[in-house]
Amino acid sequence: MLAGCSVHDSEPKSAVPAPPLPHSQAPLAARMKTAGLVNVQEHIPDILVELKYSTTDNFVKTDVYGDLDSAYLQPDVVNMLEKAYTHLQTLDSSLTFIVYDATRPLSVQQYMWDILQIPIEEKGKYLSNPDKGSIHNYGAAIDISLAVKTTGKALDMGTTYDFFGPEAEPIQEAIMLANGKLTQQQHQNRLTLRKAMESAGFRQLPTEWWHYNACSREEAKKRYDVVE
Ligand SMILES: [Zn+2]
Repeated sequence: MLAGCSVHDSEPKSAVPAPPLPHSQAPLAARMKTAGLVNVQEHIPDILVELKYSTTDNFVKTDVYGDLDSAYLQPDVVNMLEKAYTHLQTLDSSLTFIVYDATRPLSVQQYMWDILQIPIEEKGKYLSNPDKGSIHNYGAAIDISLAVKTTGKALDMGTTYDFFGPEAEPIQEAIMLANGKLTQQQHQNRLTLRKAMESAGFRQLPTEWWHYNACSREEAKKRYDVVE
């Protein structure tokens, strides 16, 4: 018997029961393969993968990927990433990439949108509206950082992944450097990531240092199917 827990007798009011995960019927990895996507680590074994949405260490505090622990991308996007990795080795051969998210099925995007307990007008700051879709849904966007090969430790980029604020925004870097919110070393780490990714044709999102698109939303729509 537990004693002395009377203050915890009532459930927290915010505890809304989560609906079942959208992929409880069909495993995500199988769906990715059926959609013709490529497992990044099978193609580039030296890249590290740590899918934050397959843990509870993310902004929705929910493991929305379940069994999925591999990063999948469109075949031509994986080829771009391989090119970026090769370029990274010329910049600093002690470094590798660490992938936090890659293809995100639209059903998972919708699920995250539904369980995010904040006013709807603020949700767009954290997540693309599933009605409009995200380039992640096409397998053509990647959330990525740099890590030391020997230790697997991610480099300090000034903020954590999925930090929402000006400190995370590449367009604000000059201001953040000037007011001391970003150090020269943190900025340098971002620049190394950016050089490697842009050398292969990836485009940096102006508001998230970790997010890169392989193409525009319009191009993604033309070239690929949404992963449901
Ligand atoms: Zn992203």
